[in-house]
Amino acid sequence: RPLLEVTDLVKHYAVRGGVLRRQVGTVHAVDGVSFSLGAGETLGLVGESGCGKSTVARTVLRLIEPTSGAIRLDGEDIAPLSKTALRPYRRSMQIVFQDPFASLNPRMTAGDIVGEPLTVHGIATGAKKQERVAELFQQVGLRPDQMKNFPHQFSGGQRQRICIARALSLGPRLIVCDEPVSALDVSIQAQVINLLIDLQRKQNFSYLFIAHDLAVVAHISHRVAVMYLGRIVEIANKHELFANP
Ligand code: ADP
Ligand code: ADP
Repeated sequence: RPLLEVTDLVKHYAVRGGVLRRQVGTVHAVDGVSFSLGAGETLGLVGESGCGKSTVARTVLRLIEPTSGAIRLDGEDIAPLSKTALRPYRRSMQIVFQDPFASLNPRMTAGDIVGEPLTVHGIATGAKKQERVAELFQQVGLRPDQMKNFPHQFSGGQRQRICIARALSLGPRLIVCDEPVSALDVSIQAQVINLLIDLQRKQNFSYLFIAHDLAVVAHISHRVAVMYLGRIVEIANKHELFANP
């Protein structure tokens, strides 16, 4: 059984306009998307800007509500679950965004940022939490003595490592990466991609990996899904990707 099985996922956004903010239209951002993702597998999601990649990612994590469709995690459909019922599933699904600076609280130390999920989910506090955070820092190639530093004291690549450490903190089964290296210098991109690959080899979680750069996607993914206008028009093994005549 796959870790994640998405069936006929649909997401329509209401478009509002005028002074009364009346609904003036509907954007069919995701229009019947189905795919599965195995444990330890990476599925790349590519397609031109606006084709619905981010919407798929956010809907799968239930950060936004699906219009219809099933999102099965270990066979359990999480699409209809309430916020409270979702709580146990939130732990196993994490996201890494494009802009690491925007997703880090500038007033929190890096150590507190990485340790926050441990507090929120009541996993560890005090010395036990510090120990786990130090271990996470090492896993992503940061030094434990950097825990006391604030986000602005890190480089772009290091900030993305902080985001990755935070995503790893609860031992996730699925990490969604939404353009995780697009905001980084080209010379740093390969380092972060190789870190992501290395972490998966050791910890066996799955990635849903969104990027517009096909070379990056092909490098990290086992299979690649191509989206166009809200639909997946092709899913190919990465070896088949460049073999088409
Ligand atoms: P991306 O392609 O990375 O999603 P966008 O600039 O399209 O970047 O979107 C940035 C943010 O704005 C996202 O959170 C997205 O959900 C939201 N957004 C995108 N298009 C619209 C829209 N037409 N109306 C309202 N919000 C939008
Ligand atoms: P991608 O990630 O492939 O760039 P998105 O999922 O961000 O695509 O957007 C898909 C479509 O949905 C686009 O037409 C975008 O403008 C629209 N959209 C995204 N977010 C919103 C929103 N919050 N409200 C209205 N339309 C949105």
